[in-house]
Amino acid sequence: MPIVPLYGHMVLRERFERARRHGVLPQSLLLHGPHGVGKQRLALWLAQSLVCERADAPCDRCRHCDYARRLTHPDIKWAFPQPRPKGGDRDFDEAKRDLEAANAERANDHGLYGAPSGSDGIFVATVRMLVMSAAISPAMARHKVYVVGDAERMVAQEGAEQAANAFLKLLEEPLADTFVILTSSAVGALLPTIRSRTVAVRVPPLSAHDVGAFLDDPIVSDVLGKRKVPPLRADRVALAGGAPGRLLSSAEADAANRAAQLLLDAALGGDRATVLRTVLAQGAAGARGPFSDTLEALTLKLHARARHAVERGDARTALAASRAVDAVEDARLLAFNNINPQLLSARLMNDLVSTLA
Ligand SMILES: [Zn+2]
Repeated sequence: MPIVPLYGHMVLRERFERARRHGVLPQSLLLHGPHGVGKQRLALWLAQSLVCERADAPCDRCRHCDYARRLTHPDIKWAFPQPRPKGGDRDFDEAKRDLEAANAERANDHGLYGAPSGSDGIFVATVRMLVMSAAISPAMARHKVYVVGDAERMVAQEGAEQAANAFLKLLEEPLADTFVILTSSAVGALLPTIRSRTVAVRVPPLSAHDVGAFLDDPIVSDVLGKRKVPPLRADRVALAGGAPGRLLSSAEADAANRAAQLLLDAALGGDRATVLRTVLAQGAAGARGPFSDTLEALTLKLHARARHAVERGDARTALAASRAVDAVEDARLLAFNNINPQLLSARLMNDLVSTLA
């Protein structure tokens, strides 16, 4: 099934198109911006235009475009966070099959999906498979394109260093036929070495007009109709806030968002008891998914806080918020590696209250 078309982002599309026509499109790109604005969809659009065989790429009519829209083009590899695979390490073929299965599932959902769970990751075997496949010539197009969504999820895992280094090499010395497009809504959590090897492009929120066009897509409106989303179009546009992907996120994401806000408010007020209670309620329950979700939501809120402080010229608040981001990212990494949640909670509480209050 073809995925829902890309809506909006006309300025960036024109910019990419011009660069591609003139042969100056950077081979390693980082699309960053808020969660839910369509960064991965934009990356897939760009990938399609790189494999399309016509001058007016992406033409949406050639066989390359058809494969790309069905997420079955052999020269486009789209990786994104997945649940941790059961069993041990996977070899090249297993990782490739898993990625194809995940893509087929996404195609089945018309390319519409919510935010990944906090415990999902892009695991070592997948990264290794991508790097190895980059040495192989394209199967049918002139280019190979790698799209890695939520790329910061490549780092928070044990044994990842080797894979990360191999990936850096891919970013640094891509073959002439290879493009790598990373996306991230938590750019602060990306390895600095990855950031420095990519050309960063900010993907802004969509205008209300473009959000409306996306909502009017019959498939989108059908999918949203089955979810707990306000029925009125105007309410949906307002709720999306320029990031319609948010409407696709689950009840779990909403809960994580609420818990993160509670944590942030308590930490700002120096209310240790509430901070500890909130962290413990999530962490000590042993449910790593929700805990990581909350920490991720907290990272996003702290990034926003730092950004707004910078805009106001309030350096002190900005610095405090970015220190708190570091503390939360540390906790996320430790939670990922199964560190005792009580220990983690106490440490995070101290870090948050001392940096923010
Ligand atoms: Zn085409």
